[in-house]
Amino acid sequence: MRAAVATGPNAPLVLQDLEVPQPAAGEVLVKVTACGICYSDLNLLRGHYPFARFPVVPGHEITGVVTAVGDGVTWPTVGTAVGAQFLYDSCGHCDYCVRGEQILCPRKRITGVVADGGYAEYALLKAGYVTPLPAGLDPVAAAPLMCAGLTAFNGLRQGGARAGSRVAVVGAGGIGALAIRYAVAMGARVAVVGRSRRGEDQAKALGAEIFVATQEEDPAQALKAWDGGADLVLNASPSTEAAAATLGGLAPDGTLLLCGYGAEPLVLPTQPMVLNRLHVAASPSGSPHDLRDTLAFSAAHDILPDITPVGLDEAPAVLEAMAAGTARGRSVITYA
Ligand SMILES: [Zn+2]
Ligand SMILES: [Zn+2]
Repeated sequence: MRAAVATGPNAPLVLQDLEVPQPAAGEVLVKVTACGICYSDLNLLRGHYPFARFPVVPGHEITGVVTAVGDGVTWPTVGTAVGAQFLYDSCGHCDYCVRGEQILCPRKRITGVVADGGYAEYALLKAGYVTPLPAGLDPVAAAPLMCAGLTAFNGLRQGGARAGSRVAVVGAGGIGALAIRYAVAMGARVAVVGRSRRGEDQAKALGAEIFVATQEEDPAQALKAWDGGADLVLNASPSTEAAAATLGGLAPDGTLLLCGYGAEPLVLPTQPMVLNRLHVAASPSGSPHDLRDTLAFSAAHDILPDITPVGLDEAPAVLEAMAAGTARGRSVITYA
């Protein structure tokens, strides 16, 4: 099978022919339909995951169809359309796993980082960690929902977004654009915080009520003027600093939730935080039950990202463009 392989930190992605793997007990072999190219894949190639196992096939935004199952697998059966995400598997017996919070398991493993992922025609996955695709959901456009969609949806949920909440989304890229659409569909009111006015039209087309350009105005003041502040700020930008700049724009009892972050530490203004009972939280992607809910909600509200389908051979060039900052939109690898 054709595969793109990460051979080591700061080494380019190499196209190779690999043997199609055979499923062992508890595993399923999935013929990959599509795999999203995520900024995390770039972090892997740059050596930002010290726990990575090289060589490894990257890719954790996988949709496909089960073609073979290992011993003891009663679900999914051959022919089932499934999705696979960042969480490859977990220990299965710690308190977090038993609570259905497998993403918090201290022994979780990450797809495409420590186990081979979707930059290949076939992927070996764990039967207990794949998610059924709702009927009618386009498996190519749905690929980024396994990561960006899950992170956005679960971030809103962890941050307590509900109908009528004022939700500010910082950054309207892959995660941010989906967060805007999910929040609007949940009945929340939405503000979008961006650097320049460039993203304003798109944000408003997605349902945002106000757009704050940080080049022109202080985001904290602008959000505070929005009926008293945001109940939830969801940071989908890769900047901790951009998130911190919104803290003064939270309503009392409001929450700043980090989905995106930068290398810089978060500095907190302690007195206003205490006096207004503000919360700061962070959220990784999500557990299998979160992904089921994300896909069900996406299907019910017809929320799919805009994507560009590319061939596996184009993946190295797409990643280079992402590294150079010249990539536009979301690319998804598809297999003929
Ligand atoms: Zn991802
Ligand atoms: Zn566990």
